[in-house]
Amino acid sequence: MTRELKVHNNLTRKKEVFQTIEPGKVKFYSCGPTTYDFLHIGNARALVVGDLFNRVLKAFGYDVNFVRNYTDVDDKIIERAKQEGRDALEHAAIFVKECETDMNSLGMLPANHTPKVSETMPEIIQMIQDIIKNEKAYQADGEVFFHVPAFHDYGKLSKKDLDSLQHGIRVEVDSRKKHPSDFVLWKPAKPGEPSWDSPWGKGRPGWHIECSAMAKKFLGKTLDLHHGGVDLMFPHHENEIAQSEAANNCPFCNSWAHNEFLNFGSEKMSKSLGNVIKIRDFVEKYGGQVLRHVLLSVHYRARLEWSDEVIQRALDEVKRIHEFVMEVREYKASGNYSSPEISECIEKMMDELSNDFNSAGAMGHFFTFLRNVKANKDKLSQESLDQVKKTLSFVESSLGLINKNPEQVLSQLRKNEQDISSSDIDAAWIEGLIEERKVAKASKNWARADEIRQEMSKKNIVLKDNPDGTTSWMVQG
Ligand SMILES: [Zn+2]
Repeated sequence: MTRELKVHNNLTRKKEVFQTIEPGKVKFYSCGPTTYDFLHIGNARALVVGDLFNRVLKAFGYDVNFVRNYTDVDDKIIERAKQEGRDALEHAAIFVKECETDMNSLGMLPANHTPKVSETMPEIIQMIQDIIKNEKAYQADGEVFFHVPAFHDYGKLSKKDLDSLQHGIRVEVDSRKKHPSDFVLWKPAKPGEPSWDSPWGKGRPGWHIECSAMAKKFLGKTLDLHHGGVDLMFPHHENEIAQSEAANNCPFCNSWAHNEFLNFGSEKMSKSLGNVIKIRDFVEKYGGQVLRHVLLSVHYRARLEWSDEVIQRALDEVKRIHEFVMEVREYKASGNYSSPEISECIEKMMDELSNDFNSAGAMGHFFTFLRNVKANKDKLSQESLDQVKKTLSFVESSLGLINKNPEQVLSQLRKNEQDISSSDIDAAWIEGLIEERKVAKASKNWARADEIRQEMSKKNIVLKDNPDGTTSWMVQG
């Protein structure tokens, strides 16, 4: 038996009762990372949210077939590999391994399938052929384009219409395209780039087609749930729908869920902004459990503002949880105490999670439970004590907020506390420079203001300009 779950479906922009094609089974696809470099904490949000969906669906009784891909053929990979003097596929393979290390440190359950583009070429080529056969794509000089006006449902996810799209295109339009919105399915490879034989000559796929082909290969023509970061909704997910439905002549996916951004200050986290924090660096300093905790402490559809307060709160909560887990091992039933906070905690967390995967709400109930158990630890009934253990195991399996090795989590937190107290960070020096930077900015001396930011960054100090005009700082790994 599965429990009722409501999911905000971006196809209808409504929260709906989640229904699957086959009762009790979920075909679930989540867009994975492009493996050209170490992942940053913005990538971690999408990964942990995908893992949350997988875990909650399982906790609700579903048999989940979960596919998360690796984009291992891509312009960024080719460019980076060239800089490093490596073969592009070899470079991508190195970072697939590094991604796996990061995912493990974030306590993620393995997906059922983790396909790579380089291993899905026959399916990709077949799908392009199907789209051409259905007259929704065309070939021009070794390149294959999807013809957007031929697919009448284009824009149904992002709610964009073709006219407004055409209007918005300012870049010079490729003269081989029949319509400015047409996008690439297959392109000829330049010398030295990875390439595969195809009916259109040696080349490689455009980005979007891989997800359509991989989803079909492992999940079939129609999926129950598709997830990704909100930045992927257009054009990536819109194009996935167009390709799959044009090739298969049936709906591609019934429910679409997108996680919001992780905001650093008031700006979106991205490589181009230079405020990148790698998962690896964060984990080395605080441990993956803390990052996972931060990411689940806010509903996936809400923006998450990255700040030292958010990290500090997670550090405190992770410590409290894992100290509690260790304490409970020593608890003995020695009274007849019971309470709704203890007996109903799992049920209340399930209710929150059934409401569009509300992890933050579930965590709230867990902390109420934790306080109640601690206050009454000397008089717990056997039944309550059993329920305490059941609740901890639920939190471990459905949210991954409890590490199997609490000693290790606590020892890393202690080490970090010592590092901070013994570090040579001079707060007065930092405050002085912040003041100087403020003056520099006021007098439009951007060069000096930048220089100060860089000087701080060399000492792992990150500055954050607040909306009220003040600047706060934090030490980062
Ligand atoms: Zn995708």
